[in-house]
Amino acid sequence: MKYAFISDIHGNLAALEQVFKLVEILECDKIICLGDIVGYGPFPNACIKAIRRRADQIVIGNHDSAAIIKTPMTYFNKYAKEAIYWTRRELSDENKTWLESLDFVHLEYRFRAVHATPHSPEKWDYILTLPDAFFNFVRFPEKICFIGHSHVPVVFKYHDETEDVTMEPGPAVGLLDDSRYIINVGSVGQPRDRDPRASFGVYDDNLQVFRLYRTEYNIAATQSAMQERGLPGFLIQRLESGE
Ligand code: ZN
Repeated sequence: MKYAFISDIHGNLAALEQVFKLVEILECDKIICLGDIVGYGPFPNACIKAIRRRADQIVIGNHDSAAIIKTPMTYFNKYAKEAIYWTRRELSDENKTWLESLDFVHLEYRFRAVHATPHSPEKWDYILTLPDAFFNFVRFPEKICFIGHSHVPVVFKYHDETEDVTMEPGPAVGLLDDSRYIINVGSVGQPRDRDPRASFGVYDDNLQVFRLYRTEYNIAATQSAMQERGLPGFLIQRLESGE
């Protein structure tokens, strides 16, 4: 089975449509969305519609949760807050009700999927360092946990015997029998690793290989839609720098 993992779409429809095109070319069997469908970007309702149609499993992200007033605004900086207030006004009642139905965790035989951390997905902590990763590795049983949230793709590896945690260089990583993994698939709609292209990952559970993909999309189209809607300039600018 080939699973596509997409995360942090943030209302960026042009990026999402481009990712779906590539997922189709790659003949993925299932699409799993790791949350943050809305927030920051100009097309929250259209992105929810596309995700509802195409994704097989979806977990909730912190911006989705804030959009339905379930995560307090103290978690967000001023640009994020401004975009969340705008998103709340924009979202249809039906889409708000649908966001209410999302869970924090999706479980399968070999992996779990969350937005933030396997240890406490509802707290919206980050896994950025090797100690962050170690803390989480000893708190979930599956071989892999797929995450998003930081908008920076990375593969952490935990060796069962030595308990060593390392970062694996990509874009393709062969998954070993004696190791477990926390895999951040990056962001579709607002990458922050200095590469502005949309990011997503594909896990092949027959070959036991994970591969990160990047794809260009029409950044200017998303930026002008954000401008028309009066979204913060900082958020518009960061799409082209990818920071
Ligand atoms: Zn996000």
